[in-house]
Amino acid sequence: MTPAPTSATRLFALLGDPVSHSLSPVFQNAALRTLGLDGVYVALRCAHGDLPGLLRGIALAGGGGNVTVPHKEVAAASVDRLGAAAEATGAVNCFWMQGGEVWGDNTDVDGLRAAIRVLLGRTVAGGRVLVAGAGGAARAAVYVLLHSGAERVVVLNRTAERARDLSARFGAPRRLDVVDSVEALGTESFDLAINATSLGLREDDPLPFPVDAAVRVEAALDLVYARGGETPWVRAMRHAGIPAADGTEMLLHQGAAAFRRWWDREPPIKAMRAALKPNAGDADGGGAHGGASTG
Ligand code: NAP
Repeated sequence: MTPAPTSATRLFALLGDPVSHSLSPVFQNAALRTLGLDGVYVALRCAHGDLPGLLRGIALAGGGGNVTVPHKEVAAASVDRLGAAAEATGAVNCFWMQGGEVWGDNTDVDGLRAAIRVLLGRTVAGGRVLVAGAGGAARAAVYVLLHSGAERVVVLNRTAERARDLSARFGAPRRLDVVDSVEALGTESFDLAINATSLGLREDDPLPFPVDAAVRVEAALDLVYARGGETPWVRAMRHAGIPAADGTEMLLHQGAAAFRRWWDREPPIKAMRAALKPNAGDADGGGAHGGASTG
């Protein structure tokens, strides 16, 4: 049981805009309850200009939290120290106080690494991976893929310049290519395709990557998540006989990695996963489509 809030209660917050669909409060509060920790996790919608003050204020008061779209870059510029993944991706999704300084790191990379392992049953070492998107989530994905020893990574983004910027951030290695259309992929085959665009947040969005393309894909991971686990893209890929998963596992593990930084102890993964199930008791707006945020 979590004690009733007092002046000693630690405050954790998800900072972003929008935040109303996030499931982070659901599973983070479930973790606090399970371990009886004196903390509370809330979602706070905030404007760009308010992010630095809010983030630092919460951390200096002994708390911490997560940052989501569209504030991850400004968060990286608002902390005193960056972890290695935040430094490499230029994005902070997790912050806390340590040794008198405000720290920020990118635990989306931990979440993604875990989600890939669950979907494929192995790492992507030696594999060929297609990443749709070139925003913050795509940067986390490319970081994980290059560090996990993928043989070839292709970034597909409608805005070519953004994809080139992403490639330049990682030193434009020969293993990393960028294209701006599905046609440019020809008949290439991939061990894994990752949707790191925001397509799928709305039921009427087009698919991030067509199922009937000439490109062959062995497995599909959607970073967008849906309560129940089936985004439109996941549904379409499964229908075509391709193993596919949504971003729930990534969400869970980025949150678990953040929890370790905040509390310096192991998170209760089973209770957190149970809280994310479609019919878990304390859903906060988990319709068919819980928008991905920290997500
Ligand atoms: P972002 O920085 O805003 O990037 C959005 C990306 O989507 C860009 O590449 C953008 O392309 C592309 N895009 C948007 N609308 C499009 C359209 N109509 N057609 C084609 N491409 C389109 O967002 P982000 O932070 O990378 O997040 C991306 C997704 O990952 C979001 O859905 C987010 O919720 C999810 N995510 C999930 C988790 C998790 O734990 N499961 C964690 C992090 C993020 P342009 O460059 O051409 O604009």
